[in-house]
Amino acid sequence: MTDQITTPILIVGGGPVGLSLALDLGWRGIKHTLIERDSGTAVVMLAKANGLDERTMEMYRRWGVSDRLKEVGFPADHPGDTVYATSLNGYYIGRSILASMNESKTPAFTPQKAQRAPQYELDPVLANAVKTRGLTDILYGTEFDRFEQDEDGVTVKVIDVKTQRSFTIRCKYLVACDGAGSKARQLLGISFEGKQLDFSLSAMIRIPNLKMTPANMGGERYLLINESSVWCVFTSVDGREIWRITVHGSQDRLDVDRYDITADIKRAIGSDDVPFEILRLIPWRRSQCSAAKYEAGRVVLAGDSAHTMSPTGGHGLNTGVGDVSDLSWMLQASLDGWGGKNLLKAYEQERRPVGIRNAASCTRNYAAWVQDGKYTDVFDPGPKGDACRKKVGDHFVNALKDEWYSVGIALGYRYENSPVIVPDGSPPTPDSPIEYIPTARPGHRAPHAWLSDGRSTIDLFGHGFVLLRFAHDLDVSTLENAARSLGVPLMTYDVEDPKIASLYERKLVLVRPDGFVAWRADKLPADNLELLNTVRGAKI
Ligand SMILES: Cc1cc2nc3c(=O)[nH]c(=O)nc-3n(C[C@H](O)[C@H](O)[C@H](O)COP(=O)(O)OP(=O)(O)OC[C@H]3O[C@@H](n4cnc5c(N)ncnc54)[C@H](O)[C@@H]3O)c2cc1C
Repeated sequence: MTDQITTPILIVGGGPVGLSLALDLGWRGIKHTLIERDSGTAVVMLAKANGLDERTMEMYRRWGVSDRLKEVGFPADHPGDTVYATSLNGYYIGRSILASMNESKTPAFTPQKAQRAPQYELDPVLANAVKTRGLTDILYGTEFDRFEQDEDGVTVKVIDVKTQRSFTIRCKYLVACDGAGSKARQLLGISFEGKQLDFSLSAMIRIPNLKMTPANMGGERYLLINESSVWCVFTSVDGREIWRITVHGSQDRLDVDRYDITADIKRAIGSDDVPFEILRLIPWRRSQCSAAKYEAGRVVLAGDSAHTMSPTGGHGLNTGVGDVSDLSWMLQASLDGWGGKNLLKAYEQERRPVGIRNAASCTRNYAAWVQDGKYTDVFDPGPKGDACRKKVGDHFVNALKDEWYSVGIALGYRYENSPVIVPDGSPPTPDSPIEYIPTARPGHRAPHAWLSDGRSTIDLFGHGFVLLRFAHDLDVSTLENAARSLGVPLMTYDVEDPKIASLYERKLVLVRPDGFVAWRADKLPADNLELLNTVRGAKI
């Protein structure tokens, strides 16, 4: 290995967020380097993400991996229900119904429905796609140690984990996707603001012959309830024999040598006689935190290094994919010279509020789990117990709607007050976790509609800006010329379909490379350069 590597962009961390950034940069044709301290991808079986939301799947569609995920994901015919019970073989309490992948319909407002895929299968799919694209130099077994930045770039010291030899990587930009304990964030002295919610212990377990009370069958996950709250979540990972149990509470959950998870597993199954094998234990801290800053000069944070959230909602990984979708085109614009000098500041102003929003939603869901509900009679075998269980079931089905049906979190976030978005004065759509209202209002994701050639409008976006024109007779050549003079990539696309025109509401809609609306109007602005300078970040 040479003592110094030079690369335009260095990604630190080969988790799902680092790999997603590598996919987008590769899709843009940008060579870059990724370092990961582990010896490979998903070398340990991670009991983490399982749910990929609609927006993440739209990005995976762009990068060519959405179909592959259908093959490795959760069995398509397995229901997605959440069952509330006292144990798998205990009393049935209630059920939130969620369709299987086969039964679920792709909503009209997206070309991609949400997908279930356990992270230990997702990460290798992403890593293989990165390798196939061939533009990422992946260095496994390489640990980020420290960095210094100057006006032209960042000099990074890294360590070969096996030999402990250190070497240098010189890059223009460093993106820290190194997870919640991010060393890069710590070296930058950026505080992680928020709160600790609890201490959790997850175990991946294999149960070859799991039987349960018939009323409880068919769940993807089980929220197990005692006299006061949810004490355990039991989740089917592969729809067959691999399960994840998570128990939460005080700090003793982190001490895997002393905490007796075996007793919890038996209690959750509701039997001492069902054989199981513990595959892996993962102690973790449930928190709701946001980095005070997402960027510091040429160093940027993305994914869990920038924010943490309770998994109650399954938004951590998805939010990280949203981060890198926003960041990637800004990095390209900065490298190619058409992005403003401070464009990356817009990344922070756009993504930090989204991280805070999503984390807050997860905490609200978690609060419904752990509030003391005084479910005193939940184990009573008689009518008193039946009445209590019905009441508790109805309560959870209603209280956790935001957790199981969160399409508004996935698609409804918007970049309000972004310095690179030009507002048009129209009012925002409601921002609800469970509702998404398509809108082409500036700052929102440009809505999906099917084009006559079978593509989605979303498939038009990505390489440069796209000016959607809904009136042929409008001459846009002055804007095109202005873009050319600034080196801003811009393509005009004529849309004939009146239904799409009414969805987008204006005759001209300027869409950014990340598929978000930057500006819209019925005619060109008085000053085209002013518009372009705003959206490329030259006025920050
Ligand atoms: C129980 C549970 C369930 C979850 N379910 C969901 C879900 O359904 N949907 C969802 O969206 N999210 C879910 N999440 C959250 C999701 O797992 C995380 O948000 C996601 O893994 C974050 O990805 P990341 O790449 O940012 O960080 P990580 O996955 O933490 O990856 C960071 C990578 O950086 C590497 N690294 C760290 N330090 C260094 C260094 N110094 N040098 C080199 N490499 C380094 C690490 O080895 C690791 O590979 C869940 C989490 C938990 C705990």
